[in-house]
Amino acid sequence: MTDDKSPILRLNSVCKTYELKGQQAVQALQNVNLAVYPGECLGIVGQSGSGKSSLAKCVTQLEHVNSGEIWYRQQEITRLRGEKLRRMRKQIQMVFQEPSMIFNPRMKIGMFICEPLLNYKLMKGPQAVQETRKLLERVGLSASDADKYPHELSGGQQQRAVIARAIGVRPEIIIFDEATSALDVSIQQQILDLLMELRRETAVSSIFISHDLAVVQQVSDRIAVMHQGKVVEVLDSARLSSSANHSYTRSLMSSALSLRKLKDEMQKRERVVVLAESI
Ligand code: ADP
Ligand code: MG
Repeated sequence: MTDDKSPILRLNSVCKTYELKGQQAVQALQNVNLAVYPGECLGIVGQSGSGKSSLAKCVTQLEHVNSGEIWYRQQEITRLRGEKLRRMRKQIQMVFQEPSMIFNPRMKIGMFICEPLLNYKLMKGPQAVQETRKLLERVGLSASDADKYPHELSGGQQQRAVIARAIGVRPEIIIFDEATSALDVSIQQQILDLLMELRRETAVSSIFISHDLAVVQQVSDRIAVMHQGKVVEVLDSARLSSSANHSYTRSLMSSALSLRKLKDEMQKRERVVVLAESI
């Protein structure tokens, strides 16, 4: 995949430092170089505080880099403003860990999904309403959920609605930042299955960020391992165990193994509870 195509997104020597009054500055990103290729899912894994969200925020310009460059196709997007920033944000969508943070509690789900279609003038009212119904069904919700308020949906359903809104504008890249981390194990798997389905059906490229290596490995083609603000290595997801060189990656791999066992155990228990309840 990476041989014959130029990247859709590229980070060149990106540095991000947070200056806090009276405290030592935090170097969240140190000289980060990364590329995302068309149609690829690049996973980013690393423990909490390793700089994963800072990377996502710098790409979408929710934060500004201190130095370095970010390129989207042939355009440098490191410091965009106004209309150019707005247009870039349509192309690069983001899905966060906590869907509840981005909902307006008084806005119905249908309007939440429809809003960007209208704002970006992608379609007119009736067509956008029609498209919203299709999007809801596409992500495994029902068209009638359009009339519900966010609090009437479960966490997993809310995240589906957020994904519907993100894919609605037909972005070229979607960044998922711990998008499944707040969900129960079985719901998490359903959302991962949905993401893999979307990948098979569309040409969208994605960055999938998680602290959980086993989860990242399921959906990603390549995995960038982050440690203390640096990308320590980028590995082929399918050949992770044979190609990992860095000691930090190896320690992530062994903790992922024990976490996998724990999750399997929890899933078994969930199944037993469901069975017991259905008797
Ligand atoms: P991750 O997503 O991998 O957990 P973050 O990118 O959120 O990591 O954080 C990287 C480092 O930057 C951490 O030390 C964190 O405390 C710090 N940091 C993140 N955001 C801010 C901020 N807005 N102000 C100050 N420090 C921050
Ligand atoms: Mg984070």
